Amino acid sequence: MDVILETKDLCKYYGESENLVRAVDHVDIQIRQGEFVTIVGKSGSGKSTLLHMLGALDRPTSGQVWLAGRNLADFSDDNMARIRRRRIGFVFQAFNLVPSLNVWENIVLPIGLDGRAVDVDFVKDILKTLGLEGKSRNMPNTLSGGQQQRTAIARAIAAKPSIILADEPTGNLDSKTGDEVMALLKFSARKYGQTLVVITHNEDIAQMADRTIVIEDGKVVD
Ligand code: ADP
Repeated sequence: MDVILETKDLCKYYGESENLVRAVDHVDIQIRQGEFVTIVGKSGSGKSTLLHMLGALDRPTSGQVWLAGRNLADFSDDNMARIRRRRIGFVFQAFNLVPSLNVWENIVLPIGLDGRAVDVDFVKDILKTLGLEGKSRNMPNTLSGGQQQRTAIARAIAAKPSIILADEPTGNLDSKTGDEVMALLKFSARKYGQTLVVITHNEDIAQMADRTIVIEDGKVVD
């Protein structure tokens, strides 16, 4: 399988001298197209910082991130933003739905902002896959937590990214709902051929992945 996402000697440091924090410290990882990888490690070990750089949300102190064979350092901030909109889907612990928009409108919002046409049949298929059929017109505040996170997942998938990056996507859900949502995220990423990278504390979720990357003090230890 082809490598879609790769870091080369990646470092992200915050602060300086005695306050220097090596949040990500010489990380070399490769993620292949279609793979499901979890990133685990204690709180403060650098997982979110790493994910932000994988997702072109932040730039490294040194080292490189390569996405589909291209070095992100070569892109301007505007081009980084375009890559985020087109190539990468994000799912965060907070669902970040727009409260004044219904489920359908929330899902298609980023596609519209990107100036693209909505693939209506594709979005309908995603709604069905995620068990949200019949919820299109619901407002977010009428949904359960699990339904809200499934809507956020649908929004991430609908823009047809090649990679989905999720930071503790089940952190706000009870464990049963979290496991269900995670199973649906895994199923849909596979169905639509998307590479999936998930930060998690949850051992059950780590078990679902093809591979787990363990981070300790900014370094990959396993
Ligand atoms: P994790 O996601 O594993 O909990 P983070 O990537 O959030 O870890 O943080 C790694 C380290 O970097 C922590 O020590 C954290 O305090 C520090 N850190 C993260 N973001 C910043 C920032 N913007 N400014 C300063 N320190 C930061």
